[in-house]
Amino acid sequence: MRIGIYFICMMVVLAGSRARAGEGLLLGDGKASSQPQVGYIWSCMQQKGGGGAFRDGPWIQGKYWYPDQKINVQGDVDWESSLSITVENGLRVIRSNDLPKHGTGIFPVQRNDPAYNYDRNPNSIRTQQVQFFLPANPQEAQYPSCTGGAVGFSLSGAWIFDGMDAEGRDAPAHEVQDKCNGHPQEQGQYHYHGPSPCMKDASGDVGRHSDLVAYAFDGFGIYGEHGENGKELRSADLDACHGHKHMVMWDGKMQEIYHYHMTPDFPYSVGCFKGSYVNRQAERGQTDEQGRQLAQQLQWQAQQQQWQQWQQQQQNPQQGQWNGQQQGNGQQNWQQQGGGQQMQQNASGWSGYSGAAGQGQQQQGYGQQQRNPLAILQGAAQRLGVDAQTLRNAIGGPPPDFNRASQALGIPADQIHQAFINAGAPN
Ligand SMILES: [Zn+2]
Ligand SMILES: [Zn+2]
Repeated sequence: MRIGIYFICMMVVLAGSRARAGEGLLLGDGKASSQPQVGYIWSCMQQKGGGGAFRDGPWIQGKYWYPDQKINVQGDVDWESSLSITVENGLRVIRSNDLPKHGTGIFPVQRNDPAYNYDRNPNSIRTQQVQFFLPANPQEAQYPSCTGGAVGFSLSGAWIFDGMDAEGRDAPAHEVQDKCNGHPQEQGQYHYHGPSPCMKDASGDVGRHSDLVAYAFDGFGIYGEHGENGKELRSADLDACHGHKHMVMWDGKMQEIYHYHMTPDFPYSVGCFKGSYVNRQAERGQTDEQGRQLAQQLQWQAQQQQWQQWQQQQQNPQQGQWNGQQQGNGQQNWQQQGGGQQMQQNASGWSGYSGAAGQGQQQQGYGQQQRNPLAILQGAAQRLGVDAQTLRNAIGGPPPDFNRASQALGIPADQIHQAFINAGAPN
């Protein structure tokens, strides 16, 4: 009986402390994982260091932080922003002068700014031409991939970085940002680490599913903080990459597509990338030539998928598994071969990040290459002395047409067919 009363008292105390903490958000410090995990960031970054706040503000208490109590970097500086987003050759092309469409605080943080007591961000907001290319019709990968600092670009003209500062701490909690929750990194890129009141979300504001507020670097959309029926989302409502799939407004029409959401709680935005192609060159901007190459890659990748689907339909159960299991890997091999630069990752902290993006992906995809359709195509091309894309175009399809290829290449159809078989294709 006494134990019972004691227990009840304890519950009351716990409930009390919880209620006070209800205004607060759990800190995401150290919540980096080496695999997709709800509430965590699957970070490609292996070395951390430099930048960020040097002292915790009073809005951080124990394991919680209190957004309402947090101060902002002062000032209201206007910028001449330019941002265009177009679709060209299956790519979404974003071009910007890298300045936000809204006012910002004064950076570097001034000595007389109260924020200076916690975070002396020494960087200035600087204009630079950025141009990058994303799949206009992103596909979900079989395996997600890690994030490496910048995760997307906002319709407000600011970058979206993941929720961690350069030391692996909860960035929105520790760093002092301006009233739009943004600040510049060392190259002058103005960015948010979480939701910003300056990203326009008219639908979310009136209790509907949020509007698109940004594009993630795998091409999928990032929407505001409100999910279906206007529900304010938390990380627990979303998958490990911080997204979900349902009917949503995308490219001007309602469609069922995967998308990310911003949330008020850690990790705030993308936790890992769901898409089959991740633009890891985005941080420095890209050249037109890179855009052309990517358009070709994506086109060929789409053809590959069609071809794989065709094969899957054709093969008996004995072969059924190699299509099913290797499909995603084939794409990753292709990405590695065709877009080697994707494996590079640029710095995004204030100093000293050395990126190791894509290492998680690299482990996948090797091992059974002779059984994946792309490897078969390449093997057959090698045997026939033509390049793989020429062969791919020549056989057409799906289904592949060996007679057509024979005419296009001037090689007997039997010989082409045999080359495929020798390369590991089922006969
Ligand atoms: Zn930052
Ligand atoms: Zn949604």
